Amino acid sequence: MTHIDRTPNYDRSNGWLELLPPLAPPSVLTGEIGADHVVIGGGYSGLAVARRLAELDRSASIVLIEGDRIGNNAAGRSSGFAIDHAHNLRAKGFADAVRAAKAAIELNRAGLDWLGETIEANRIDCQWVQEGKFHAAATKRGERMLDSFAASLDAIDEDYTRLGTGECADTFGTTYYSKAIHAPHSYLVQPAAMVRGLADTMPANVSVFEDSMVTDVDFGPPHTIRTTRGTVRTPSLVLANNGWVEGFGFLHRHLIPLITWGSITRELTEAESDSVGGAASYGVIAAHPAGTSVRRVTTPNNRIVVRNIFSFSRRSDFVTHKNWASRTHRKAFERRWPGLADVPFEHTWGGALSLSRNGEPVFGKMRPGVHGTVVHNGVGIARGTIGGKLLAEMILGGDSDLLSQMLAKGRPNAKLPFQDLGVRINARARRIIAGREE
Ligand SMILES: Cc1cc2nc3c(=O)[nH]c(=O)nc-3n(C[C@H](O)[C@H](O)[C@H](O)COP(=O)(O)OP(=O)(O)OC[C@H]3O[C@@H](n4cnc5c(N)ncnc54)[C@H](O)[C@@H]3O)c2cc1C
Repeated sequence: MTHIDRTPNYDRSNGWLELLPPLAPPSVLTGEIGADHVVIGGGYSGLAVARRLAELDRSASIVLIEGDRIGNNAAGRSSGFAIDHAHNLRAKGFADAVRAAKAAIELNRAGLDWLGETIEANRIDCQWVQEGKFHAAATKRGERMLDSFAASLDAIDEDYTRLGTGECADTFGTTYYSKAIHAPHSYLVQPAAMVRGLADTMPANVSVFEDSMVTDVDFGPPHTIRTTRGTVRTPSLVLANNGWVEGFGFLHRHLIPLITWGSITRELTEAESDSVGGAASYGVIAAHPAGTSVRRVTTPNNRIVVRNIFSFSRRSDFVTHKNWASRTHRKAFERRWPGLADVPFEHTWGGALSLSRNGEPVFGKMRPGVHGTVVHNGVGIARGTIGGKLLAEMILGGDSDLLSQMLAKGRPNAKLPFQDLGVRINARARRIIAGREE
């Protein structure tokens, strides 16, 4: 029996979730049941695996187990940029880099397409809109990074438009940014509303249990999974529980536990909104990856959302960094909108990202009757979704080019000695270099 000694312990500070209508009481797993498949984790990955298993095998019984409320997890805490491509080409040789970037975009877009179809078919009210994403610079270094980003987009034949200083001011309602690039294919979404909607509209052969933390697993198959109040037996277990997969005995010393942080203002008054101007809704990613991303949202109700900094924590509650995060967000917010200095944040929250040293995901078979999809970095909406969908197809014996692409990816490599310390130093150094991009 494996005892799960590391479990998530989020507080209730996630603005996206707290601003939704109160949740109905959860369905908690009690007693002893059996299922054809059990999926652990109600984030983008787990929701996608469960839905796809159910779609493909209508006669199978599927149990989705979530330790918290769905929406109070990293998935519901994200900034809601459903993005199709990352910043720059990464692989070493140019041809390899172009090939890898195109393949990653194909996978991400397949995830976003399926997500969009699911949202539309189930009429999920989560403000899923193809607004694209802006990458904006506030420094000369940032401008150079934008140029390099534009060169990457040219190399992979992706379209974009450039914005000068005046257009940035008109769009963002601040003179903080000097240049920007708009890439049109991404979506913006209210993340907590989306994952709640996905959970609430599962096919009939999926049972969703929340507030049902998995505490012990007796690996088989068949596997026996114990939660705080119940037990489920299954021949097929899927781990879709982000960095907590380590607590289940996998990937020890392979994952880098990072927390990133968001804050949301109170609703802007009409006068405050008019004084700022700019578009009613947009999402901006800083030119420097360690910079601040911001969103102006019409729902919930004309607010501004700020995300920046990465803290490092193996503790499952990680609330100790919250005051620091809130202060850093305040500074970033007031730099951009000094006229809104009196507008307080209503919520500040952190959420877990798990990274691997080489950036590769966990995908596929982990031991007999156990599959996993974990490590989606900062692009969890697209990658978590497509990873989950393809994993379900793999479990049911499917075959496709996209699945082969996923299987061809590398696996996370082991961390170097003292790597955790190195990550902290690196995060600090990147913040210093990012300067006013933060
Ligand atoms: C502030 C912030 C901003 C972000 N912004 C973006 C963004 O704009 N776009 C984007 O694409 N990504 C973004 N991300 C990243 C994204 O949120 C993650 O990549 C994504 O949530 C990973 O999805 P997942 O389903 O794999 O994991 P999670 O969303 O973490 O879901 C895993 C689930 O497993 C559950 N679990 C773990 N252990 C157990 C257990 N023992 N028993 C039962 N349940 C368990 C957890 O409670 C959790 O609900 C952001 C993250 C944060 C924190």
